[in-house]
Amino acid sequence: MRRFGSRFSCPKPEPSSMSAKFNALMLDKQDDRTVASIQSIDESRLAESGDGRDVLVRVEFSTLNYKDGLAITGRAPVVRTWPMVPGIDFAGVVETSAHPDYQPGDKVAMNGWGAGETHWGGLAQKARVPGDHLISLPAKITTRQAMAVGTAGYTAMLCVQALEKYGITPDHGDVLVTGANGGVGSFAVAILAKRGFRVIASTGRPEEGERLRELGAADIVERASLSEPGKPLQKERWAAAVDCVGSHTLANVCASLRYGGAVAACGLAQGMDLPASVAPFILRGVALLGVDSVYVPRERRIAAWQAIADEVPVATIESVATTIPLADAPAVAARLLGGEVKGRVIVDVNA
Ligand code: NDP
Repeated sequence: MRRFGSRFSCPKPEPSSMSAKFNALMLDKQDDRTVASIQSIDESRLAESGDGRDVLVRVEFSTLNYKDGLAITGRAPVVRTWPMVPGIDFAGVVETSAHPDYQPGDKVAMNGWGAGETHWGGLAQKARVPGDHLISLPAKITTRQAMAVGTAGYTAMLCVQALEKYGITPDHGDVLVTGANGGVGSFAVAILAKRGFRVIASTGRPEEGERLRELGAADIVERASLSEPGKPLQKERWAAAVDCVGSHTLANVCASLRYGGAVAACGLAQGMDLPASVAPFILRGVALLGVDSVYVPRERRIAAWQAIADEVPVATIESVATTIPLADAPAVAARLLGGEVKGRVIVDVNA
């Protein structure tokens, strides 16, 4: 068995005595290229974390996030060890547990913690993870709906919570969401609107404007109006923003925030660079709030997931998602990076 974390060891070769098998999307490195294939894997190849509190999960659904797209296509060095089962999220049912909080049959989900990067992730029918990385799903949410939410929806909630913790309230003014037709963006629009904010959605797909309005956007702005290099200080337009895009877009957002405003920055769909000046920070006192979802402590995860269950109607969760079989994941991952996928993609690993 492989081991996790700083304690990670390389995957073992196929064992000679076979136990239970499961299907997984497997990434291999061949001549500097990432090659994806569906493989039948022996359960004994699943790593153990070494903390003695691992849980074996029968995965029901996974999902495709932007990071999964990068990993599966090899477009960015997301994968740290090979071969790799990608998938930073999964939801399923506990099969066996050495963790006191989980019993066989429990409905659980996992986001981040290096899954699909440093240890095998969720695009498979089985996953073994430290129990401390799991959360019990709120009763209202099915495993399928949990993957409609996935890291994207949970990150959107972390962004909104970051803005509110900073002190942004609906009476401060409009809140911009960039990359609004993506997974994080769609959920950010819905959550902010539900919390009473007037939401402005920035998108490169204005033809999807009606969908964004149904999610709660009051108005739409063209992505192109934000994505080109701009002045260091611009007209004050937004009280706050959730930025999924980075690069010039984030620089322009900072330059257009109202005095004392804040942006929760979580993404890099346009680029990882930030060609900005300090002017908005030192002349308008705006705040750049970084949001990471991967290593957020468990209590904050549970709170974010509970808030999603309480606030986002199931109909909204269902409306942002389409479902694909595991075998389609590589093709859809490439389309996702091309900005051709709207909302969220659920992967039925058993289809
Ligand atoms: P999606 O692919 O679902 O959405 C990204 C959206 O960004 C697209 O739908 C598109 O929106 C917009 N976009 C795409 N390409 C460009 C471009 N070149 N310039 C400007 N806008 C572009 O991804 P997710 O919603 O899952 O993730 C969004 C970002 O957040 C990603 O960069 C991802 O890596 C990051 N992320 C970070 C997390 C963290 O922990 N910090 C967690 C989750 C995601 P539209 O068509 O509306 O313009």
